[in-house]
Amino acid sequence: MHQFKFLKSLILVVIAITFVCCKSNTNSNDESIDSPPQQQGGPSVSDLFSEMDANNDEKLAKSEVEGPLLDDFAKIDTNKDGFLTKEELENAPRPERRGPRENNTESEDNVQRDFAVTVNVDSSLFIKESLLSEITQEEHTLSNGTKALCYVITTASQPQEHKMGPWCPTHIEDGKDKGGIWFKDDKVYDVDGHFIANLKEFYSDAEWALFREDGSVKVTETQEECEGAAKPDVEEQYHNYCVECLPDYYREKQSTYYIPVKPLYLEKSNALGRDGIGIAFNGVNFEAPAPTHAILAAHTLAPLDDAGGHVNPHAGYHYHAVTGATKEVAQNDAHAPMVGYAMDGFGIYAHKNADGKASTDLDDCNGHYDEVRGYHYHAGSAGSNQVLGCLHGASGSMSVKG
Ligand SMILES: [Zn+2]
Ligand SMILES: [Zn+2]
Repeated sequence: MHQFKFLKSLILVVIAITFVCCKSNTNSNDESIDSPPQQQGGPSVSDLFSEMDANNDEKLAKSEVEGPLLDDFAKIDTNKDGFLTKEELENAPRPERRGPRENNTESEDNVQRDFAVTVNVDSSLFIKESLLSEITQEEHTLSNGTKALCYVITTASQPQEHKMGPWCPTHIEDGKDKGGIWFKDDKVYDVDGHFIANLKEFYSDAEWALFREDGSVKVTETQEECEGAAKPDVEEQYHNYCVECLPDYYREKQSTYYIPVKPLYLEKSNALGRDGIGIAFNGVNFEAPAPTHAILAAHTLAPLDDAGGHVNPHAGYHYHAVTGATKEVAQNDAHAPMVGYAMDGFGIYAHKNADGKASTDLDDCNGHYDEVRGYHYHAGSAGSNQVLGCLHGASGSMSVKG
């Protein structure tokens, strides 16, 4: 089923790690804005490692990779230990030719599947106080080129049911109530003063120095400082900073979502785009994985608050993790509660079901089907840096202005 996607991704991987030169690789804009640039006659496996292996442990964790490597992580990780080694990257099989498949993109993208149960978006689940205007309906072109009736949802991306922050502690003796959370290798850590003081050991990297001699933590303190630090190419003077942008800097931003009323499942999944992958019931967007390799390469941290959110200059406040802090819609069975909608109109549910366990039959996108909810997603664990793996439906779009 994912044969084509796998091949396409492998092609990108091979281009990145070998000296194959292929000029037609110019339309890979569906990747995150933070992806490293694809280079013609690109870097070697060693170069890839020095770029992405943030903690220098000679293997790439899921949190360290992006784009095609992230998309096909499970397939390249042949020994299933959760890490990519140089050997595994070098042995990733090469496709024989890409031409003929490339020509089939249109038709393969559009193969739809009708399940017995498809659940329409319930717009009444959104918290009214979070919306800037009433939800309306409008025809809109989806990612697969078809037009569909969409809900138009306009929000300020500010939660109603929990406070935002804190993110960075200000002193290495601060307790965990003064900071947010950070994640590594699927685990969540409290960013308290001790965590900041201990970063050298945490990442086995002597260059970490987020605090001064007097124990104060180097935190971005103005909008200018946050904007110099919260970007893929972190400005030199903000290396070794705890990055914190405040919601107040971006109060005027408006996010508009077009989400299809009736979701449409496509056989071929789509990589996550740059502008949100879904929306919580409070109007805050779920974003694609945080670009941790860029963040860590500059020895910065951009902690999430306890609700899994932080602020960036583009989108304002947004979530990278589902931690149970937002409105949940309980289910009548033992299934995980619902937490929002993906951009394709399929529901997003919490990671764990009522028995405390995660579903084990999820596809690459973190989705599966049942006869109550139709096709739907489960958020990745809070430490996975991945709310969704990809989108399996024709997705609407999201834009931010202000
Ligand atoms: Zn972010
Ligand atoms: Zn489920």
